[in-house]
Amino acid sequence: MAKAEEATAQQLDIVDRRLLDILQRDFPPTVQPFAAIGQRLGLPEEEVLARVRRLKGPEKGRLIRQISAIFDTMALGYKSTLVAMQVPPDDVDRVAAAINRHPGVSHNYQRDHTWNLWFTLAVPADDDLETTVVALVDGAGGYPYRPLPALRVFKIGVQLGMEGAEHASPVATAHGSRAATAPTTRDRAFVRELQEDIEIVPQPFAGVAQRLGVSQEEVVVWLQQAKAVGWLRRFAAILRQRQAGYVANGMAVWRVPEDSIERAATVATSLPQVSHCYQRLTYPDWPYNLFTMIHAKSKENCQAVARKISRETGVSDYVILFSTKEYKKARLKYFAPAQGVTTSRSQSLYTEAQRYMPGGVNSPVRAFRAVGGEPLFVAKGDGPYIYDVDGQRYIDYVLSWGSLILGHAHPQVVSALKEAAERGISYGAPTALETELAKRVVEAVPSIEMVRFVNSGTEATMSALRLARAHTGRSKIIKFEGCYHGHADFLLVRAGSGVTTLGLPGSAGVPAGTARDTLTAPYNDLQAVGRLFSENRDQIAAVIVEPVAGNMGVIPPEPGFLEGLREATKAEGALLIFDEVITGFRVVYGGAQTLYSVMPDLTCLGKVIGGGLPVGAYGGRKEIMEMVAPLGPMYQAGTLSGNPLSMTAGIETLKVLAEPGTYERLEEKSARLAEGLRAAAEATRAPVFQTRVGSMFCTFFANESVVDYASAKRSDTNRYALFFRAMLENGVYLAPSQFEAGFLSLAHSDQDIDRTVEAAEAALSTLGG
Ligand code: PLP
Repeated sequence: MAKAEEATAQQLDIVDRRLLDILQRDFPPTVQPFAAIGQRLGLPEEEVLARVRRLKGPEKGRLIRQISAIFDTMALGYKSTLVAMQVPPDDVDRVAAAINRHPGVSHNYQRDHTWNLWFTLAVPADDDLETTVVALVDGAGGYPYRPLPALRVFKIGVQLGMEGAEHASPVATAHGSRAATAPTTRDRAFVRELQEDIEIVPQPFAGVAQRLGVSQEEVVVWLQQAKAVGWLRRFAAILRQRQAGYVANGMAVWRVPEDSIERAATVATSLPQVSHCYQRLTYPDWPYNLFTMIHAKSKENCQAVARKISRETGVSDYVILFSTKEYKKARLKYFAPAQGVTTSRSQSLYTEAQRYMPGGVNSPVRAFRAVGGEPLFVAKGDGPYIYDVDGQRYIDYVLSWGSLILGHAHPQVVSALKEAAERGISYGAPTALETELAKRVVEAVPSIEMVRFVNSGTEATMSALRLARAHTGRSKIIKFEGCYHGHADFLLVRAGSGVTTLGLPGSAGVPAGTARDTLTAPYNDLQAVGRLFSENRDQIAAVIVEPVAGNMGVIPPEPGFLEGLREATKAEGALLIFDEVITGFRVVYGGAQTLYSVMPDLTCLGKVIGGGLPVGAYGGRKEIMEMVAPLGPMYQAGTLSGNPLSMTAGIETLKVLAEPGTYERLEEKSARLAEGLRAAAEATRAPVFQTRVGSMFCTFFANESVVDYASAKRSDTNRYALFFRAMLENGVYLAPSQFEAGFLSLAHSDQDIDRTVEAAEAALSTLGG
C-alpha cells in the first residue's frame, strides 16, 4: 500500500468507520438522513455532517467519491456488454481515447494479456448494442474484438468493509434482469436527478425536489418505489477504492464446466474480496466463462484469493488479468438529456460515399439537402425501426418510401426470400410466381384485368403512357403540378418529390421537344383540365394523376376531382391513368380507386407490391393491355422484370395484407397518430396543417389549407427542417423533406405512436407559434 493511502486509512477513527459502513449499507431514506444517522451513532446532526464533509474532502483523501442513488443498468432497460480488444501495444492509448468518447463507455482498462483492452458499454433500451459495438470498434481502428455480454449475473456491487472482515461481506444480489415496469418520462426525470451526488446539508433532497417540482417526501417515496420495482439498487456512498486501501484489482477468469458454473459461482461470491461475478459468452479463442472481480490490498492477495477459489471449486484453468492502466472509470449517466445523436460513423461513411457517387447517394432526397445536416447511414431495420451505423434506433415513418407496409424485415417475407434465393436469383424465363402475384393484383385492383411487371415505378408510368399513346394514336398528356411519376424525361415537368425539394422547375438534359407534349394543370383544378382539353382537341392521349397526391406532401383529392377527370377523359377519348405507385395496397387493399370508387383505364403500381424489393407494374382493361408486346405493337421489356425475388416479396406482403382486419388495424394506428399530432399542434399552437389518407400522412407547416402545388410550396420549409431535426434527435425518422409523405406500417405499436406524438409535442413547442 502506498504511504499516503495507508495514512488515509489510518486517519479514520472508529466513528468514521462506523459512519462509512452506514453510508454504504443503510443510508436512511428520509428527508433528514444525517439526523437519522446521528441518532444511530449517538451524535448530533452537525457532527455527522462535518464528518461526512471531511470524508469527502482532501483531508481524508476524498475517500467518499459520492453519495447518490445507484441504479440497476439492466432494470432501467439498458443493454450492456464487456468488450475485449486486441490492440497493438503502441496504439492502445489512441484506441482507448477513441473508445472513451462514447458516453455509454463507463470502464476502460488496459490489462496484461493478449486481449489487452477491456471496456464496458451500455446503451439505452432503444439503441442496438451490437451495431454500437461494431461502430465503436471500427471507428477506433478495427482491431480484433470479442463482445462478452453477461449471460448470468451472480454478484454485483462493491461495498468495501471498513470495520473489519466480519462486517465486510458485500450483499450478494441477484440483479441483471430487466424490471417488469419500464420507467416513464417522470421516472426518468427522477433517475436523472437522483444519480447525482447529494449536497451534504440537513435536507439533501430539497434541491432535487425543487427541480422536479415535487415535495421532499415525494422524492423519498419515489426512492422506495424505485427500490421495490428493481430500478434502484441502493442509495449509498461510493468510496474511492484506492483510498480505502484496495489497490489491487484483478479480473480472474475461469473455464468452468457448464454444469458446475453455479457451484463455482457460489464459492466465489461467498468471498468478500469478490465484488462482481458473471457468466459470460465464450469463443473458441476465449474459453473462459466465469468472471470474478477480485479486490485486495495487493496483487499477491488477489492471487491468494484466486488460489482459494480454485482449491474450493476444483477449477484449475484460470487466468488473472491485472489492470495496468485505467483509461476510464465513470458512472454511467442514465437518461442524460439528448446530447444530440452521435453520428460520427454516418459522417465518415458519407464523406467516403461522396467520393464515389454524386452527392454520396443514389437518389437525391436521401442526401438531407432540404433539412440540413448529413444523412444517417442505416445498419439495419427491424419492424417499425431503423438503426443507424452508430447504433441508434429511430421509429421509421419513411419505410423505404412507403414500400414496407409490414415494417422492416417481416419474418414471413424474409424467410420466403431466403428460400427463393436458394433456388436461384433470376432466370429471365417465366415462373409460376409471376402468375401468382399477377392474379393477386388482378383480383385486388378493380380496374386491372391484365398486368405487366417492371422494375420500378418510373418504368411503370413511362410504359403506361407509351401504351396510352399507342392506344389513342395521340401524343400529348396532362399531368398535375407537384405530382411525381418517376424520372422519365417527359414526366420531369413541374414534378413533385425530389424535384420540388431541390426547387427545380424540371430537369436539365430533357430536350424541349420531349417535354412539349406534357401539359400541366394544378391539382384539384378541373377547370384547368377542361381548358387544356379544349385547347388541344383530339391530341391528348391521357391524363395521369396520383389519386392521392403523395409527392408534394400528402394532398387528398377534393370531392368530385377524380370523378371529374373520369368524365372529362371519357368525353374526350383520352385514357385516365391512376399512378397508384404509392396508394396501391396502401390506402386500402384495392388502392385509391377502390377508396374513391373511380375506375381508371390504366393503373401504375410499385412500392408495396414489391415488399421492399424493386418492382413496378402497369395494368388495366384487357383490350388495352393486349396492345403490349408480344401480343401487340407497343414494345416494352426488362431483363429482370418479374424476377423471382421481387415476386416472392410481393406475394408474401399481399398475403399478409389480405388477412381480415389488416386495414382496419392500420387505420386505427394512423388515426391515433394523426389525432396525436393534431392535439400536439393545438397544445403548442404550432401553425400546422395536418393531412392524412389511410396510412399516408403529412404535417405541413402552413397557415392555410394545402390543396395543390402552389399552396404546398408556401409551407415554411425552414420550420419543417427544424421539426425534422428535433424529431430525429428524439428518435423519430421522418422524410427529410416537407414535400414527401409519411407512412405507417402494421409493425408500429401504440407505444411507438405515442412516443412519436410526445416527441412531436416537444419539437413543436420549441418551434414556437
Ligand atoms: N409514381 C409515384 C406516385 C411515386 O411516388 C414514385 C416514386 O416515389 C414513382 C412513380 C417512381 O417510382 P420509382 O422510384 O420506383 O421509380
